[in-house]
Amino acid sequence: MATFKAIRIDKAEKGTTVALTQFDEAELMEGDVTVRVEWSTLNYKDGLAVTGKAPVVRRFPMIAGIDFAGTVEASSHPQWKAGDKVICDGWGLGETHLGAYAEKARVKGDWLVRLPEGMSSREAMAIGTAGYTAMLSVLALEKYGLTPSDGPIVVTGAAGGVGSVATAILSKLGYRVVASTGRMAEADYLKDLGAAEVIDRAELSGPAKPLAKERWAGGIDSVGSTTLANVLSMTKYGGAVAACGLAAGMDLPTSVAPFILRGVCLLGIDSVMCPIERRKIAWSRLASDLDRGKLTEITQEIGLDEVVGAGAKILAGQVRGRIVVKIL
Ligand code: NDP
Repeated sequence: MATFKAIRIDKAEKGTTVALTQFDEAELMEGDVTVRVEWSTLNYKDGLAVTGKAPVVRRFPMIAGIDFAGTVEASSHPQWKAGDKVICDGWGLGETHLGAYAEKARVKGDWLVRLPEGMSSREAMAIGTAGYTAMLSVLALEKYGLTPSDGPIVVTGAAGGVGSVATAILSKLGYRVVASTGRMAEADYLKDLGAAEVIDRAELSGPAKPLAKERWAGGIDSVGSTTLANVLSMTKYGGAVAACGLAAGMDLPTSVAPFILRGVCLLGIDSVMCPIERRKIAWSRLASDLDRGKLTEITQEIGLDEVVGAGAKILAGQVRGRIVVKIL
């Protein structure tokens, strides 16, 4: 019986159990491409899955992990052959389809993006779903028509994964970035990434007024709840905010005032079912518009045996930047 190492989640009488164990290759799900996984990463959603804090996993047994980079081992998909370097994120990996914290994955070839020229598998996962979501958010602001001359962009949850990558990309593109963080001790880290100004997230976490003083032309928000409501109420006339996260909550206690009195737009960002053509654009822009030196600065590396502990830390808001998980 062929087996491989994996982080397996099973349903228990109460909640779920998680274990680093051997997984039977015969249990792999349907797919036309089998990939030798080299690197994965730890995202907020992975934290929810491995700690069982939210019902992210909807099929059992499950292999956790929502994204990976690796090398194609076997393929019956016309676009892929053995030896190709690929990235996979979302599409239900680690939720409804056996996921990334494993030496092997079998997926649909249609889900895969080719590793950009000059980017290593490790760098791709240092970016991971969080970084790719940050780029989708930047693309949304650009599609809306914002440019650096329109004014500053606020990034919330700035010291987290999405926030760190968003800060680095926006500053490289010439935007003035206002980084909002609950960890003012990380102000120098955020300035090194390119933030022009660092503000305490307490300024944005109380109940929002319908309209407040106009402070920025746009925003990338990974926090949700009253933070997003405050960001909207402080957005300049005609600005736009990309909403991609819920680190503080799923609610949005706002009013229609920013939309109908200032023409502000709220842009929704989803990485999971994002169409493949948009993913390709995002990864190609990540290859050109994210400083690799800064990516190295924000990245820590852990092994598969450290994922569960790190999962609890990310939920507690204690992870700075990005974590890559070494699989092979
Ligand atoms: P991280 O935990 O790395 O970052 C989240 C950051 O949010 C924290 O570092 C912290 O930043 C801030 N934060 C945490 N808790 C609170 C709180 N209670 N109030 C205010 N701020 C808080 O997670 P990721 O960057 O990986 O993900 C961020 C969010 O984006 C998550 O909600 C995740 O589910 C979502 N997401 C959505 C995707 C999509 O497809 N739309 C894809 C990927 C992620 P600081 O310390 O700087 O204040």
